[in-house]
Amino acid sequence: MGPTHFGVDSHGIASPADRMFLLRTRGSRLSLPDSGNQTDRVLRDRKGRIARKLRVSVTDRCNFACLFCMPEKDKISWIAQEQILNFDEIEKVVSVLASLGIEKVRITGGEPLLRRDLEDLIQRIVSIRGIRSVDMTTNGWHLERKALALRRAGLRGVTVSLHSLRSDRFAKISGVDALPRVLKGIEKALDAGLNPVKINSVAIRGYNDDEILDLIEYARERRISIRFIEFMPLDGLGMWNYDRVVPGKEIIDAVSRRYPLEARGRGTSETSSLWRFKDGRGDLGLITPMSEPFCDDCDRVRLTADGKLLSCLFDTEYHDLRHIVRNGGTENELADTILKAVWKKPDGVGYMPWIKDGWAKPRNMNAIGG
Ligand code: SAM
Ligand code: SF4
Repeated sequence: MGPTHFGVDSHGIASPADRMFLLRTRGSRLSLPDSGNQTDRVLRDRKGRIARKLRVSVTDRCNFACLFCMPEKDKISWIAQEQILNFDEIEKVVSVLASLGIEKVRITGGEPLLRRDLEDLIQRIVSIRGIRSVDMTTNGWHLERKALALRRAGLRGVTVSLHSLRSDRFAKISGVDALPRVLKGIEKALDAGLNPVKINSVAIRGYNDDEILDLIEYARERRISIRFIEFMPLDGLGMWNYDRVVPGKEIIDAVSRRYPLEARGRGTSETSSLWRFKDGRGDLGLITPMSEPFCDDCDRVRLTADGKLLSCLFDTEYHDLRHIVRNGGTENELADTILKAVWKKPDGVGYMPWIKDGWAKPRNMNAIGG
């Protein structure tokens, strides 16, 4: 049977062998071979970093077309439906990753809520031994309808991307006139008890950098954490350049003129450095991959919707796990490939020669899973 994706039933896909595999791995630890490169069975790379977090992209498709993410409509080539991992396949890969030490999962995309029956997948991932939390990053379009079901499925928290509070500008940035609906989605996520509810904003010079204080005020009123992300050169339009990046430091300088802030620093392996509003009304995070990369203690790996393991957001080498899962490979083969892939994790964005010598980007953000 074909893979699960839009409009295709997610149930009844597992072959008897797959079902046996899933039954064995739910609640049990795998016995895995040594990768040959490593002395223990954790996801350690050459620099000694150990991966504990996984981002799972469930689709490259999106109903928005954010200008810092998607290519132009006529230049989009979607991953073919039959290449997308079905839920059994995702569960299988995540089970092996969990047996190698992955503890936290974030579901992403494309827009993850376009994936039919996503609650089913969340429930399955939550049940995998070793997984301590499952969160999601979403554009918020389907949140109003889905928040409660997601919570009931075991989703812990949700990060909603919100780049403007002005309807016309929101439409210009995201390609869809969706601001009221996204704001309702955020309220619904709070009502449903998803926790934490956070906001992600990509700050782009000349597009929304004059709205930083408004976005902060919106978040503070609701006691929601807001994180500003520096624009990364993973966009499909090729509009990225250093001048469009709003460095985190600039944001802190501007914000602290209005709100007294206290620096809380960046926790080990966290992406954001945190600042607390001194009046106690929430906090502010800065994700600064361009101006202050945090690669030295990175503990994340990614699984793309078509089953490639990516050890770094900026890596150009994709490690195919789908052919192992689809062609009857064992969990040990899967583990071995994963261990070897993680071992080769690049040092990080700051060390990549292509960032200076020219950009050879294999995929845009929507197809990687941000
Ligand atoms: N569609 C969902 C959303 O927009 O939240 C999830 C996928 S999106 C690729 C994940 C995150 O990456 C979002 O917060 C989005 O704003 C961010 N993002 C996308 N392109 C980016 C870029 N070029 N630089 C920095 N962040 C980016
Ligand atoms: Fe879609 Fe998210 Fe990319 Fe925007 S950032 S186009 S919502 S995947």
